[in-house]
Amino acid sequence: MKKHLCIHGHFYQPPREDPWLNAILPEGSAAPSLNWNQRITRESYAPLARARRLDGSGRISEVLNCYEWISFNAGPTLLNWMAQAEPGLVRLMVEADRASLARLGHGNAMAQVYHHQILPLASQMDKELEVSWAVDDFTARFGRAPEGMWLAETAVDTPTLEVLAANSIRFTVLAPGQARAVASAAGGQDHWTPVNVGSLDIRQPYLVKLPSGRSIAVFFYDGPLSQAVAFERLLADGETFWRRLSQAASPGLLTLATDGETYGHHFTFGEMALAFVLDQGRLGRDGLSLTNFAAYLAANPPSMQVQLHEPSAWSCAHGVERWRSDCGCTDGGHPDWRQDWRAPLRQALARAKDLADLHYFQRGATCFKDPRAALAAYGKVLAGLASQDQFAAEHLRLKLPASEQAVAWKLLAMQQWGLASLASCAWFFDEISRIEPVNGLTYALRAMELAARTGGPDIEAEILPILKTAHSNLPELGHGETIWRTLVKPRRESGASLTAQALLTLWADDRLPAPGTSAQAVWPGVTVTVTAGGKSGNGSPGVETGKRQPGAKGGASGWSGTAAIAWALETGADQVEYSWTLPEGGDPLAAAVIVRGPGGEESFVPRDLPVNKRQGLADVFAMRSSDVLWEAALSRMASGVFLIPEIQEAQTTVTLAPRLAGQWTALAWAYLWGPPLPEKNRELLVRFLGQCSCCDFERTGLMERVIARALAMAASPSPDWESLGIMVSRVRELNLPQDWWAIQNLIWDNDLRHGPGRAFAELIGLAV
Ligand SMILES: [Zn+2]
Repeated sequence: MKKHLCIHGHFYQPPREDPWLNAILPEGSAAPSLNWNQRITRESYAPLARARRLDGSGRISEVLNCYEWISFNAGPTLLNWMAQAEPGLVRLMVEADRASLARLGHGNAMAQVYHHQILPLASQMDKELEVSWAVDDFTARFGRAPEGMWLAETAVDTPTLEVLAANSIRFTVLAPGQARAVASAAGGQDHWTPVNVGSLDIRQPYLVKLPSGRSIAVFFYDGPLSQAVAFERLLADGETFWRRLSQAASPGLLTLATDGETYGHHFTFGEMALAFVLDQGRLGRDGLSLTNFAAYLAANPPSMQVQLHEPSAWSCAHGVERWRSDCGCTDGGHPDWRQDWRAPLRQALARAKDLADLHYFQRGATCFKDPRAALAAYGKVLAGLASQDQFAAEHLRLKLPASEQAVAWKLLAMQQWGLASLASCAWFFDEISRIEPVNGLTYALRAMELAARTGGPDIEAEILPILKTAHSNLPELGHGETIWRTLVKPRRESGASLTAQALLTLWADDRLPAPGTSAQAVWPGVTVTVTAGGKSGNGSPGVETGKRQPGAKGGASGWSGTAAIAWALETGADQVEYSWTLPEGGDPLAAAVIVRGPGGEESFVPRDLPVNKRQGLADVFAMRSSDVLWEAALSRMASGVFLIPEIQEAQTTVTLAPRLAGQWTALAWAYLWGPPLPEKNRELLVRFLGQCSCCDFERTGLMERVIARALAMAASPSPDWESLGIMVSRVRELNLPQDWWAIQNLIWDNDLRHGPGRAFAELIGLAV
């Protein structure tokens, strides 16, 4: 029997979406990245798809897509974000799956429980939805049905495995400590041999025979080696990593389970050590060959069966207590804190979901042909496998009035956020006021709001008494009910708050509509179409009133009109009328928006938005301002760079240096991309730019623009390699940060290292 190796990566992030905008808001702790998803993607997920293999002289001899050589699962909620924010990376994951499928007959990608719920704690219906929606998402993403599914926290019990098997899932992966006893697969239910972490043979897959008559295979990963990757600096050196693997391997399958962010985020350049190891495996060094679970299972059907500890999970030694009680397992840095908030939080969120389910089936009975079947099929709409129209034709009752159709879609959205509220992350850490539990509660709030809007019960009144008993470890925060009031409910959106954000977004982006026209502020979850009222004289809607006259001090601009608020995957729109006065030159967040809609009149001051939403508006403003000012500076300094005179004897800087200093990035740009300057002019300019370029943010900002242009040039049909090469040498001359990562990728992907691009490729570190 040969020695096989399978390294598995689990790629997942706690849900961070705001449930109204369905967008991830800026997170201060991730700055200057926008949010943690983006930061971990930059540090880990993207480098893994682009891992560098270096030759003896430190040049890049290969850009390796590690996903092609490891087994991996990525959470549907993470992939949803990634598909919008980093579509190229999702494409590389899909390509990796296709390539492994072609090589091994089975793809590397595994599905994952949709919202990362602890399935043994979920209701039967929620188990089924979490699994079938995950199958749909995977199928849409990878173009094939999944063979394996990763269970959140590897939390397992028999009902969970039944649901996987019923969805045609062939295998899952568990921690070795979850096995209780083994027996021959051929035998009956006797002759079980008890096993523990030390005695379990993890080199083979096992069969779990289920009460339904179905069965599913289970792989067990190597616990100590997987731990070593995370905690013992195995990623510091590829050769050491390989030797540990090679020593541990014996005939059969050696499996590691690792978290995706281990490579890069927790361990800088960890992806390079992994790439080295994968390359050794690819070459068959020491008789090892790389495989994935599905391929191994197809070639090696289980000869043994296993009984599991039920329920159990990889990150709790007490079953699945970590997600419902103070079991003692904790993360977050406060080992002495109490976790007795977990039980009431579980109770409150489960109760909210139960009440939402009840409402769904009562109210849904008049909208759907079969409410349960509709809910299962909604996964296909979320995945993009079915359009809203297709879904409506199949699942809504015939000739359903528009108002009832709107109710049906809201009921489905209610279920989606209800399921999201139960993501495992809320219970994983050590405090109820952390972002993860607060997000879970916020998703429940959104589900409750949709229940109320469709005539459902007052769920909030049911769960607040329970939340009152969930005590925070921070006395000033009180308990779950006070956290609900102070941290959760202020996040709620209204017609006025959404209209205010739309108006401010359009203002910050210089896109406010002219009278009689419309403009849209778009988030993944909601689109607000703002129409400015038509011109009809004396201060009526749409006319800018009180506009500052020349010479007048202060003043303000007023707008009024209508706004249509349309939710994604719903039908119809909420129509409101608005009026708004923006103080000129003052605080735009102080500008009150007054909205009249079906619910009456409402006033909203954007200053009252949660900090992340204010930050989102500020980011739109910053992006637009940066572009406007950059264009203006660029057009002036394109000429200005020629007006830096030649350096004179004993001259140390340019005259009027303090005035010109603010323009240094535009001057540098003009120099980087411009024609050669006479030597003495160049000398003065370079000296001056060196004096100015001490701010890392400015240097990085400049290089982002330089790389964007270089990428566009290199991707053009006949790239100007000479200009690109001159740019690189001048970047070095100015000692600007050299991050050629993206352009190296492009050259590698398009195979531009040979022919006319060769010199440039070599210049930026590629072996040619
Ligand atoms: Zn525990």
